[in-house]
Amino acid sequence: MHDIKVIIRATEMQKHSDRMRGLGKTVAFVPTMGFLHKGHLSLIKEGRKLGDDLVVSIFVNPTQFSPEEDFESYPRNFDKDLKLLQKEGVDVIFSPNEDELYQDGFQTYVELKNLPNHLCGISRPIFFRGVATVVTKLFNIVRPHIAIFGQKDYQQLAIIRRMARDLNFNIKIVGFPTVREPDGLAMSSRNSYLTPEQRINALSLYKSLNQSKKLVESGIKDAKRIIDAAYALIKSYQDTAIDYIAICDPETLADMETIDRPVLMALAVSVGKTRLIDNMILNPE
Ligand code: AMP
Repeated sequence: MHDIKVIIRATEMQKHSDRMRGLGKTVAFVPTMGFLHKGHLSLIKEGRKLGDDLVVSIFVNPTQFSPEEDFESYPRNFDKDLKLLQKEGVDVIFSPNEDELYQDGFQTYVELKNLPNHLCGISRPIFFRGVATVVTKLFNIVRPHIAIFGQKDYQQLAIIRRMARDLNFNIKIVGFPTVREPDGLAMSSRNSYLTPEQRINALSLYKSLNQSKKLVESGIKDAKRIIDAAYALIKSYQDTAIDYIAICDPETLADMETIDRPVLMALAVSVGKTRLIDNMILNPE
């Protein structure tokens, strides 16, 4: 079995990375909150190709959850994750505890001005501040040359790309396509919350995106018409509550009315108590 190192301390992680950099190795990094699935593993396989030394972090970040969200109940299974990562030939798991990253008196946050004011940022007002802060900390601790993120969390990826540019991180940010279940549901650690019935209703997200893709390809340019059709489709499934369905500019995430170039369609829907997100680029060509 591949020799994998589990590091808990930030200073030890920094030392490891400095040693690798000193040896001329490329450090690749995949941050996760654990409970790994094939979506995570696709990023990790890409990281294995891109880096000489591959670091995966497992950390359920408390600062991106609001008090009424699922921080406590978020699924965790370190032993299973460890085995999966060993199999993928990962070199280091960085798995700090909460106190290691947020010591008493912690008060410094990273906030973006515009990108969080759309999509998920509207109903989750502290979420992206938590994400930008923890990713900044992880970048400073892991010191990677390359970091890989999923396009499933499109807004998160856009925010991290912007932040890396704005703060001169000198880290190559790689975005990787969404991995789906055979029927199309985007893989997510939170899918484990779904009952068999909810699992069927959860497919409405992907179905609405596909329907929208077809409508756009058939020549419909009015974003409202596409969004209305997506609402109707999702509402026809039981136990679904729509947070938002948006058609927006893929760079700025600002809403668009007319689909005259490639646009991002993104949505967040709760199925029962489980909040799911998905997105797709719609191309009128
Ligand atoms: P998480 O553990 O949910 O914080 O996700 C860690 C990383 O895996 C993020 O960059 C996510 O965008 C990515 N990811 C999550 N689900 C998928 C998926 N189904 N396909 C591709 N990447 C994913």
